[in-house]
Amino acid sequence: MVITALTMEDILPFVTSKANKKKVDTDAILPFIILPLLLLLCTLSRTVTIIVMVTIAMGVLYVCTRPHQKNRSSFFYSWTLSSGIYLFLVFEFGVLRLLEITQVENFVLLVLVACTCYFFHKMKAVADFELATGSSKGKEYSPVLTSDSHYCQICQIEVNERFFHSIWWDCCVLRPNYPYFLAGQIFAFATLLFGTNLGLTTVCQPFIFIGTILMPEDCSDVYYQMDLAICFVSSVYGVGYVLIIALVLLKQIFVYIPKYCEPQWRRIVNVLNV
Ligand SMILES: [Zn+2]
Repeated sequence: MVITALTMEDILPFVTSKANKKKVDTDAILPFIILPLLLLLCTLSRTVTIIVMVTIAMGVLYVCTRPHQKNRSSFFYSWTLSSGIYLFLVFEFGVLRLLEITQVENFVLLVLVACTCYFFHKMKAVADFELATGSSKGKEYSPVLTSDSHYCQICQIEVNERFFHSIWWDCCVLRPNYPYFLAGQIFAFATLLFGTNLGLTTVCQPFIFIGTILMPEDCSDVYYQMDLAICFVSSVYGVGYVLIIALVLLKQIFVYIPKYCEPQWRRIVNVLNV
């Protein structure tokens, strides 16, 4: 009798109520199932790893090039979360167990992870605050848009000073939260670069690159041992993320940082003209 009083919402955290109907948000759960299965599949051989990684890259390319309004799903944000959580778990329970990482290296990585989480959390919190308080015109769509307002097709809301919408963080990036987005990406880049280097130099034969910096050299025997293979394919997946974040950062340098600095420059130019 007591058990029947429990609803699905009490049991599963992802249950959302929509239009008075309780519906499990499968889009949010799927990445947590698909990603570990894909990583396990990768451990079979080098060829399978290459095929799976190329397929994931093609999938990301397809999602990024199709119309924005088709990307209204919690799947992408869950994919980011699941990637971060699985890579962290593999490092802490896989790579560390091989006893080649020093306490200092692990501490530095934990600090980088904490900084990344902090900045992305702030980015989402500031965006939610801006949209909720209406200081960025968080109102329903009206056909007449003023020159400084944009209609976000994914949030379905009209916002001021919008830079872009990040489907991977399920968040509108506006002027107030842009610095947090940028800092989060820089820390994510540093975290992944450091973590994947530690992972690859632990499971592969390393060589001394410069000073105390090691680089992986021979990774041919990682597929013979399951734990090494999991650490290796997760590190390769992390390297993929490093490349994507590098592209994102390049776009910031050429497009959005100049856009962010534009009002300040204009103010300086105006002062100089006077
Ligand atoms: Zn948006």
